[in-house]
Amino acid sequence: MPLSRDFHTHSTASDGTLPPGELVCRAREAGVESLALTDHDTVAGLAEAAEAAAGAGLELIPGVEISVSWQGCTVHVVGLNVDPGDPILRKGLAGLLEYRAWRAEEIGRRLERDGIPGGYEGARAFAKGELVGRTHFAHFLVQQGHARDVREVFKRFLVKGRPGHVPGDWASLEEALGWIHGAGGVAVVAHPARYRMTRSKLRRLLGEFRELGGEALEVVSGSHSKDDCYLMARHARDFGLAASAGSDYHGPENPWIQLGRLPELPPGCRPVWTLFETETHGAVLSDTSG
Ligand code: AMP
Ligand code: MN
Ligand code: MN
Ligand code: MN
Repeated sequence: MPLSRDFHTHSTASDGTLPPGELVCRAREAGVESLALTDHDTVAGLAEAAEAAAGAGLELIPGVEISVSWQGCTVHVVGLNVDPGDPILRKGLAGLLEYRAWRAEEIGRRLERDGIPGGYEGARAFAKGELVGRTHFAHFLVQQGHARDVREVFKRFLVKGRPGHVPGDWASLEEALGWIHGAGGVAVVAHPARYRMTRSKLRRLLGEFRELGGEALEVVSGSHSKDDCYLMARHARDFGLAASAGSDYHGPENPWIQLGRLPELPPGCRPVWTLFETETHGAVLSDTSG
């Protein structure tokens, strides 16, 4: 089996459904040899994941997926190979978690005004860690019969123009990059095709990201079509960005996204893992051909 890497996954520390240790074991079973845990705005799952990875003989890349507000859009920036103990990163993430706590209560209030009481408590019950995200509200609303599935909840309740929507007020691009770089990490624009930006807006984002020292683009993503991958590979080359690959796995409930089942990077891409410090990772990542 070829060396398999997956650099974008979630655990119960954010809105995934598997605890970090179980996620690592599943990844190992799926043939993943290098895994990044990249929970939304928190590094709380990394210690458990690292311990499980040591036991399972899998390389864990400590990561985080930072929520960013940029020109009226929410953009996700993944930090790979970060030091989870870095005080500035931790302080930045703590601010985002504080905002998330307020936002969760606000989503609850807005749903209540729309005739759905108990949303905040309901979402809290689905959250296994400190962080309450929109996915937890989605699980609650499905459980209560307000929609058939998570996808439908988002469309009907949680996006712009819908009753439970709260406009994001996240980190700036500059802050997110500062925290990631301060913690020794590599910054990656996550799932670029998901933003549905015009080509010129996406290119503005990538230009600004590059100017601020951003290193990579998630060319291969569980949410990208084959055409998306090729298009993003071209953008990566144009902006001198390395290419990352991650499933954005959130748990076994989404059977269409599996751990480590990703297409190869399109030809001509510079793999993001070649940027990781070789002293730390060279021994494990001896095969850099794929
Ligand atoms: P949050 O960061 O709390 O605003 O939630 C964002 C998360 O919600 C994403 O990382 C996805 O896990 C999930 N999500 C966003 N949009 C959708 C959608 N249309 N269908 C299902 N899940 C979604
Ligand atoms: Mn998520
Ligand atoms: Mn994301
Ligand atoms: Mn994600």
